[in-house]
Amino acid sequence: MKKPKPPSPAGPPGETDPSQQPESLDACRRCDLWRRATQAVPGEGKRRARIMLVGEQPGDGEDLAGKPFVGPAGKLLDRALADAGISRDDVFITNAVKHFKWELRGKRRLHKTPGQREVQACMYWLERELEQEQPAVVVALGATALKALLDDAHARLQEHFNKVTRHAGRTVLATWHPSYALRAPDTATRERAYADIVAALKHARTLASGK
Ligand code: SF4
Repeated sequence: MKKPKPPSPAGPPGETDPSQQPESLDACRRCDLWRRATQAVPGEGKRRARIMLVGEQPGDGEDLAGKPFVGPAGKLLDRALADAGISRDDVFITNAVKHFKWELRGKRRLHKTPGQREVQACMYWLERELEQEQPAVVVALGATALKALLDDAHARLQEHFNKVTRHAGRTVLATWHPSYALRAPDTATRERAYADIVAALKHARTLASGK
């Protein structure tokens, strides 16, 4: 596991170039997020999986580990996958944005929602993953992933919630990001959100099986 970059407000000097066509994530300078993240976090999982899950961006733990969904939200996602009858080994998991965007609060690096420009810049990588993996079903975990997958900055989670949306030849379902089921203010909302995620994963499993 890498050590985080020092929590300075600015990162190392260097050019950011939205028109760059990088060959590797480490070389990516398409938006500014590379400056303060420890490393880029690529998607991982089964190659050519029938189901692809797309979250928002790496969190603090993912930024250090270089792997997606390994922190508390990842553990909740693992439990939801198991409850939906899906093995994590059978899916491909990634994020819409590959570098951790954060702000310092005290000594903690707190998640900051990526902006539309950053999501757009990082579509370069998400499109590559979609092309390579060719999933039968893509599950958007949260609004940022949904906007990226539908290429629509105004897409609303409520409108696509657990519904099949066809876009660019792909089948997309949307549900909550697992962190919402962790951080919603009251127990009843957290339990409902968790049940919604499991229901969407079961729906994805049915669609992926072609039944
Ligand atoms: S967030 Fe995405 S587009 Fe921006 S620098 Fe990182 S890999 Fe490149």
